[in-house]
Parts: sequence; structure tokens; C-alpha cells
Amino acid sequence: MSKFYVTTSIPYVNAPPHIGHALEFIQADVLARSQRAAGRDVFFLTGADEHGVKIVRAAEESKKTTKKFVDENTEKIKKLIKILNISNDDFIRTTDKKRHWPGAQKLWMKLVEAGDIYKKKYKGLYCAGHEAFVTDKDLVNGICAIHKTKPEIIEEENYFFRLSKYSKKIELFVKNGKLKVSPVSRRNEILSLLKEGLEDISFSRPAKSLSWGIPVPNDPNHTMYVWCDALSNYITALGYGQGNSKYKIPNTKYWHYWPADVQVIGKDILRFHAAIWPGMLLAAKLPLPKTIFVHGFITVGGKKMSKTIGNVIDPFEIVKKYGADALRYYLLHEIPSGEDGDFTYEKFEERYNADLAKGLGNLVARVLTLSQKNNIKAVKNKNFDAAIKKTEKQIEKFINEFRFNNALVAIWRLVASGNKYIDEKKPWALKPESKEFKEIIGSLLFLISDIGALLSPFLPETSEKVIEAVKNKKLIVLFPRLL
Ligand SMILES: [Zn+2]
Repeated sequence: MSKFYVTTSIPYVNAPPHIGHALEFIQADVLARSQRAAGRDVFFLTGADEHGVKIVRAAEESKKTTKKFVDENTEKIKKLIKILNISNDDFIRTTDKKRHWPGAQKLWMKLVEAGDIYKKKYKGLYCAGHEAFVTDKDLVNGICAIHKTKPEIIEEENYFFRLSKYSKKIELFVKNGKLKVSPVSRRNEILSLLKEGLEDISFSRPAKSLSWGIPVPNDPNHTMYVWCDALSNYITALGYGQGNSKYKIPNTKYWHYWPADVQVIGKDILRFHAAIWPGMLLAAKLPLPKTIFVHGFITVGGKKMSKTIGNVIDPFEIVKKYGADALRYYLLHEIPSGEDGDFTYEKFEERYNADLAKGLGNLVARVLTLSQKNNIKAVKNKNFDAAIKKTEKQIEKFINEFRFNNALVAIWRLVASGNKYIDEKKPWALKPESKEFKEIIGSLLFLISDIGALLSPFLPETSEKVIEAVKNKKLIVLFPRLL
């Protein structure tokens, strides 16, 4: 059985999760579920990024200990994953000293062994909001353009990672497709960055300014900066760094599942995943992930989501009011998978009523109601069967290309054909005992049962309900109409 390893990025828990996190979890979940259904041995990882100065500060502001603060916010991520029906196999936390730290430190040591970690004095403008040194292009009149604060001049001695050494190699991997970056627009973006050449990056912070993190091996005066701390989660969760053997770690998932088949990320962290992470892996002589799939951002009524504007969309609220599958449907159908997309409650309710309540819900309700009139069994209908087989092939292709919206459009073509068929045949005017009635309703039962099956990676709860209802001839209301 071939394996399939899919990851999401790990959300930074300085704030509760928003609808953008929901999008990423759901996209990765579709990949995991469809690969499982295809019989592959799937491992689906997500987790939480819990270190850093910003978290310490946010905890102070909310008058909580850092530990309590991250525990609470990580619990919210876990809760979101649960209510969205995300089928992850594991959840890794970067504060996990047993599971995560040994692997992060081992990876660091591999980079040291490669001669790619060196110490350097660095003097520059440090923005606390950025948690990083900023340059003139980040500033407007000496003030950070994003955080509206004046950066301090700091002189620090930090460890650096020789990322520059790997620019050409990574560029080659992206060009020859050994490291696929999808969609093409993001591939071009990273290629132009690689062509310019990557600079070495600061890889640690003095422990006195960053204590909430993983200590640098053999140097307690330094704490790892986010790169080795967080990006390493994709291998530490698989057991990298566990066990005593210096070079091989037998019996860990690492040897089975790494490299990742798909890493799902947002467009803001493209450089981290398609440049820094591959550089680290190359230095450590580990294989690179096969594909990086990059999604866009969700705007709200055309505006960027922001706490200041107060337009942050809470996924918990939507799921509570409309159900998980309604949100899954909207995000997969309305947000073009590799680009930005828009959310408004008006649009959400419009799609809900038209596609879910009226389209799918109505078809299923009509067929099941009519099937009650007589003990009718599903019968294979040649036209429907051909259309279903064709749709199946399309869905497989669309999922492989991360075109989730196109996959749903294809399924809804079947829904429309069912509604059209029932309108034309008018079975309610026929006698339930007649051969014709049995054939029409039997064909429709066949169709909706297969639609149910096709929905399973996208709307898992609805899928189960439809399949069950056809089996037990039970009346169900899938999506109550909103008024
Ligand atoms: Zn800043």
C-alpha cells in the first residue's frame, strides 16, 4: 500500500483561530480523506506553533501565564478541528518537550555537522511586533509600516544558518519539479526569489530576550528562532530525533512517511516553506517534500480581515448556526483554492439556500419521500451510471490539481441532472405500483446514493447521512432552508 503524508502549517497561537485556519484544515482534510478512500496509507498532521516573544507578550496582556495562555489557545484549535470533522491522525505542539524538542535539536545538530551554522554579531533595527530585524524597506519615516512602532537598535550575537549555500540547489529542485509548488503563480514567485539568491538567516536569539523556546544544543545562552523550532514539526511528529541511535531511528513513522507528499500552507509563509525549509533539509541531507500547495487569503466583503476593523469571521459561530458541512462547502466551493476569495454572510446564505437546501437537500428529500410509497430498490440507470463514472474521474483529477471548487461543481452537475430528471418524469403523477414509477425512483435512489459517496471527502457528515438514508429508506432534512 502506498503512503500519503499531508500536513497543514501549524497555527501560531497568539490569537484564537479564524476562518482562514478553517480553510487550510478543510483543504488538507479533503486530500487526506480522498487518498484514504483510494486505499492509500495516509498520515495527516496538524498542530500548534507555541513559542516566541509575541506569545509571551500576548499572555502578559491577558494576565495569564504563558503556559496557560498557549494551552487555552491550542485547545481552541483542537476544538475547531473537531467541529469541522477534520480527520487528522496526529497533532504536534512545539512546546512538547518529549515529542518535539529532541527532533528539533537533532536537526540543529545536523546543520552544525554540515558546517552551516555560524555565529555572527549583528547590529540592526529590531521590531518587536515583527519579532525580527527590519530593514529600511519595512519602515515609513522610521516607523514600522505594519506595527506602527519605532524599532530599537539592537546589537546581538546570533547563530546564522548558511541558507545562501542552497539557493541554486533549491531553484533546481523547483525547476525540475522534484519540489512542486502549486499553483503556478506561487511557483513563479518563489523562483524569482531563488534566482535573486537567498541570504543567510538569523537562526537563534539570546536566551535573555527569548526564553520561551527551545534551547540551542550545547549553548544555553541561545534559544532557537522560529525556523528550526517550528518547521521541524513536520518530521518530529513522525518520531525524528527519538531513540538513541545516532544515525538511524528504527521503527519510527519517519522512515515510512517522510518526505511529505503535500504540505498545505498559506501564501504569507511561502518563502519559509519553499526556501528556508528545503534549505534546512538539504543541509541535514534529508529528502525534500514532494509538493507545496499554497492557498490564498479570505477577505470579508472585499476587505482584509483584521481585528482593528472588527471583521474577523469566527468559524465556531458559523458551524454552530449552519453546521460544519455548510462551512466546508462554502470554503471549498467559493474560495478558488490557490487564490484569494471573499466571505460575506449574504453570499454564504445565498449559496447555502441555492446549492445545499434547494439543490442537494431538495433532491434527496423528494426522492426519499417518493420511495416511501412503495418498497423501491435502487436500480442502475445507464445514463446516470455513465455520468457518475465520468464525474468520479474528473474529481480525482481536480483533487490532484487542488481544484476543489471544480470538483464540487462537477458533483452539483449530477445534483442538477437528478432534479431535472424528476421534474421531467413527474413520478408523483404515476401509480406507485407501476413499473415506470419503480424504475424512475429506483434510478434516482441509485443516483443520490452515489452522489452521497462522491461527497465523502468534501462533506463527510452529509455523505454518511445520504448513504444511510438510502439504505434505510429514511426521510431526512439535510439543510433546513434559511428564511
Ligand atoms: Zn514591525
